[in-house]
Amino acid sequence: MPSNLLPSSITHASSPAPNDQVELRPQFWERFSLTELNHSEWEALCDGCGSCCLIKYIDNDDDEELVEYTDVACKLMDCATGYCQHYDVRQQYVPDCIQLTPAKLPDMMWLPAHCAYKRLYKGQDLPAWHLLLTEDTVATQQQMRAANVGIAGRCISEVGVTDEEMETRVVTWVTP
Ligand code: SF4
Repeated sequence: MPSNLLPSSITHASSPAPNDQVELRPQFWERFSLTELNHSEWEALCDGCGSCCLIKYIDNDDDEELVEYTDVACKLMDCATGYCQHYDVRQQYVPDCIQLTPAKLPDMMWLPAHCAYKRLYKGQDLPAWHLLLTEDTVATQQQMRAANVGIAGRCISEVGVTDEEMETRVVTWVTP
């Protein structure tokens, strides 16, 4: 049985490198470390899957961390579109929404396996369907669906969900 409940919300919207660059440098994800990215590049890594905004359980009693995702999302999530309804002011509503930064990534290996931040941190490539590779929004969306990635249309809000019900909502379509 899952042991620790993690916050349902994180945001990738942090500025890991304090500079004013706004352009995406060619192939930046291959040429620079995560700590060297400008704000726009950091933001562009997110595929918008929304998985990190699902409530998840983590059991790290053993050497290996066990993570189980539920299909229950942060109260700010629009479960139809898979996007945060109040992204710009989200921390007014959810003060513990985690800011994803390079410094925090080592402690965030509960992120899904397809997440670009986790993949680059682990020295892996971007997923083949990533928008930075396809440069085609429709193609990326189709390929993400084919890869079973994304929470739009298949999550419920945490509002009103009891602890008991939460434990019945564990899903396998998000792989840490
Ligand atoms: S899991 Fe990663 S790619 Fe998906 S929304 Fe969260 S930060 Fe973005």
